[in-house]
Amino acid sequence: DTAEGAGRRVLLKLSGEAFAGGGGVGVDPDVVQAIARQIAEVVRGGTQMAVVIGGGNFFRGAELQVRGMDRARSDYMGMLGTVMNCLALQDFLEKQGIDTRVQTAITMGQVAEPYIPLRAQRHLEKGRVVIFGAGMGMPYFSTDTTAAQRALEIHAEVLLLAKSGVDGVYDSDPKTNPDAVRFDSLDYSEVLKRNLKVADATAISLCMDNDLPIVVFELLTEGNIARAVRGEKIGTVVGR
Ligand code: UDP
Repeated sequence: DTAEGAGRRVLLKLSGEAFAGGGGVGVDPDVVQAIARQIAEVVRGGTQMAVVIGGGNFFRGAELQVRGMDRARSDYMGMLGTVMNCLALQDFLEKQGIDTRVQTAITMGQVAEPYIPLRAQRHLEKGRVVIFGAGMGMPYFSTDTTAAQRALEIHAEVLLLAKSGVDGVYDSDPKTNPDAVRFDSLDYSEVLKRNLKVADATAISLCMDNDLPIVVFELLTEGNIARAVRGEKIGTVVGR
């Protein structure tokens, strides 16, 4: 049961895309509520959980760059988008009776605490969910890299990389290739060498250099976050 996860500290990365539901853009409250329910279940079982959320449901800097925008400025738009997702998750977690704090890498005192790693760890010890927003606060980085960095800094034992619509890492795109094969486990170097679409290379190499295991799994299946925390084989483990 979830008691198996008690006392553990994990970092959960949620893609922004998931928050949009079928809509593609913006936040679908039903989806966020379902995610919050899953997280609440795990936290009630005694697992300490920090969360990093992407912003792909609002803006991706690289996509705006292609359309002619300055990359750094559009990356800041991307980072600000992640904060809206953080507030949505915070709201639904609080409705589940879970205490939360949002900490952002770009300070915005009215809506969130600044990112203070020691304080984040104190929150976690008290059973609060800490939601990290605004990525690293730096253009040219991704929220996957942020997730790896935050996991390392707060001493999480694993990075849970939750995806919407795909249940692990495949040797080719399962949406276009019906013969695509899912890996149960993978070495970091294999991910980099084969350019597998797990996370960007910066995030993967940061995990590799610091031996942080990554579990890639499907987010929206009810109970999957708890399964990933318990170490059930529901997706792909990237490690060595
Ligand atoms: N971003 C950034 N620095 C960071 C994190 C994010 O510049 O440290 C920007 C970047 O433009 C990125 C966008 O925020 O495209 C949204 O994050 P991401 O694409 O990682 O979201 P996801 O794909 O996980 O939804």
